Amino acid sequence: MSLIENIIRPEVRALSAYHVPDSSGLVKLDAMENPYTLPPALREELGRRLAEVALNRYPVPSYAALKAEICAGQGVPAGFDVVLGNGSDELISIISVACAKPGAKVLAPVPGFVMYAMSAQFAGLEFVGVPLKPDFTLDTAAMLDAIAEHRPAIVYLAYPNNPTGTLYDAGDMEQIIRAVGDSGIVVSDEAYQPFAPSSWMPRLAEFENLVVMRTVSKLGLAGIRLGYMAASQALLREFDKVRPPYNVNVLTETAARFVLQHADVLEAQAQALRDARSRLADALSALPEIQVFPSAANFLLIRVQFERIDAQNVFDKLLEHKVLIKNVGKMHPLLHNCLRVTVGTRQENRQFLDALKASLAECRI
Ligand SMILES: *Cc1c(COP(=O)(O)O)cnc(C)c1O
Repeated sequence: MSLIENIIRPEVRALSAYHVPDSSGLVKLDAMENPYTLPPALREELGRRLAEVALNRYPVPSYAALKAEICAGQGVPAGFDVVLGNGSDELISIISVACAKPGAKVLAPVPGFVMYAMSAQFAGLEFVGVPLKPDFTLDTAAMLDAIAEHRPAIVYLAYPNNPTGTLYDAGDMEQIIRAVGDSGIVVSDEAYQPFAPSSWMPRLAEFENLVVMRTVSKLGLAGIRLGYMAASQALLREFDKVRPPYNVNVLTETAARFVLQHADVLEAQAQALRDARSRLADALSALPEIQVFPSAANFLLIRVQFERIDAQNVFDKLLEHKVLIKNVGKMHPLLHNCLRVTVGTRQENRQFLDALKASLAECRI
């Protein structure tokens, strides 16, 4: 046996590394980033604030100021607190590690966010994926059966879901939260909350087992890596023990505090993207080859519905036209021939639409 075989867990060796394609020179519509930057005056002020940060000191470990501002500004109900993560990816990992009793299981609808299954695997938890219906709504009966069978310690419901954009029915979710009861937690992953019409945050007090997770990534701060989760103090106390002590760095802390004090700027950007989303959806729906699924996020899931046209070919042609989106068709059978495109600026969306029309015409030949 080689060194690698001797020391690295087989399930880790079997994985392929998370692949991020090179996007230089391309219209980048693959990763749900906000295409807008901060206005110049705010950027200058942010620069001044960052210059004053004591880089030689560890962060204040309680993060009390940032947490208090998040609680006050993001609608965390009174009596509830947040735990911060280096992106919500780290929060998912913290939850997995904290709940990784021998034999414990994680359950989520599929297709869904890949990190739920990855993180479960890293922590030695079993992942159970329950297929959505073909229209990507929750198969509540199948979810309830799976919950009864597996008694999962963690259930993830992305609200709205990635990569489908679906906002699950609140009544369905409530049934699931109640069915899980005190044998598990239900995480409402609200990464796309700025683009969605509703949230579970105001309802935290109704459900002892509910965790509401959010990130500033899709809001326009993907580069600083900051996520937070709100839940009962009792749950957060346990999760906080697993959190690496200084997991949010001082630059992130300072930038987040500054930008969240100007949340109106980000909200205006989110509003522009919500408007652009409906214009883009309308334009795509007008193409006979394309089916558009309803989305409450800053991206659209589309299907190339002419079986003669392979979505991979469309994706490749789009790249030739310098537009990068995401081919999700191989992620799950329900996503057959599906592509996911992030909503960008008016100009980016126009470039994408023109490139898509040209690509479809080239694929038809
Ligand atoms: C993007 C995304 C995240 C991860 O966000 P980070 O804070 O950037 O780690 C979490 N959940 C869902 C559903 C996402 O799409």
